[in-house]
Amino acid sequence: VAKSNGRNTYQVYEAWMNEHHREALTIEQHLRQAIEKNEFEIYFQPKMDFSSERIKSMETLLRWKNPILGNVQPDKFIPIAEETGLIIKIDEWVLEQARRQNKEWNDARLTDPLRIAVNISALHFRLPNFVSLVEDTLKKTGLAPELLEIEITESSFIDNIDECINSLTKLRNMGVFVAIDDFGIGYSSLNYLRKFPISSLKIDRSFIQEIAENQEEIAIVRAMIYLSHELNLRVVAEGTETKEVIELLRELGCNEVQGYYVSRPVPKQEFEKIVRRINGD
Ligand code: C2E
Ligand code: MG
Ligand code: MG
Ligand code: MG
Repeated sequence: VAKSNGRNTYQVYEAWMNEHHREALTIEQHLRQAIEKNEFEIYFQPKMDFSSERIKSMETLLRWKNPILGNVQPDKFIPIAEETGLIIKIDEWVLEQARRQNKEWNDARLTDPLRIAVNISALHFRLPNFVSLVEDTLKKTGLAPELLEIEITESSFIDNIDECINSLTKLRNMGVFVAIDDFGIGYSSLNYLRKFPISSLKIDRSFIQEIAENQEEIAIVRAMIYLSHELNLRVVAEGTETKEVIELLRELGCNEVQGYYVSRPVPKQEFEKIVRRINGD
């Protein structure tokens, strides 16, 4: 009985794998042409700075609409883009769009200069030529380096710590900001935080969303904020969905909040309206 059970389980697993694999292949095929076919769009989500009550920066979030697959969520296609290496071209495309858009806003004086953050996959960050790509991007038009921020996750640091420090140091010397994204859920060694020349931490939303109800979670977030400030890092809270959570984070000394309460990620025109409304210019 055990044997046949085992086989059944295996068959179910195999069917699931096949299905899963087929779906991934379909996504990959369409993803290969998504840039050429103009199927990507970048959305922008503001980060609200507590000390000034203004939007000082925003994150770009990629959106993909394919005529056959419809809207595909990043959590679905980014992992496939990473597995297939397509992420490198995609991240480069996003970086270029972000640079152009931010230059346009700054030239048009939408508000005081905004910093634009771009997500870079761990795989991409670890490539030897990543830093020179950023350098080239900045050179193309004079977007001030301090108006660009790179968001990387802790998985970027799994191997070759020295290389990472080297790349981070070059970025810092160029004046580009670097944030650790989804902080707290990955391989978090307090030791690397001290060694790495980074500018901010983004506390993962799984910690943030609990703090209104859960005292222990408040203690963890408080400790993260304390530690960051000791290390001269700014702290951004991700996934702030309620006024209550935002007020709590303000009391805890968090520097910036990003989440649905202030705004969802939105297209360009809508983002401009939100900035004008909140920054009042
Ligand atoms: P992330 O960089 O941690 O981005 C934050 C995610 O949280 C976004 O999901 C955003 O829409 C969502 N979010 C923001 N505020 C809230 C909130 O208040 N509540 C909740 N529940 N969610 C909130 P999204 O846009 O689906 O992106 C998911 C992930 O995909 C990103 O996580 C990032 O890791 C990746 N990604 C998105 N765009 C790019 C890109 O251009 N390049 C790369 N390499 N990765 C990207
Ligand atoms: Mg991010
Ligand atoms: Mg995040
Ligand atoms: Mg994430």
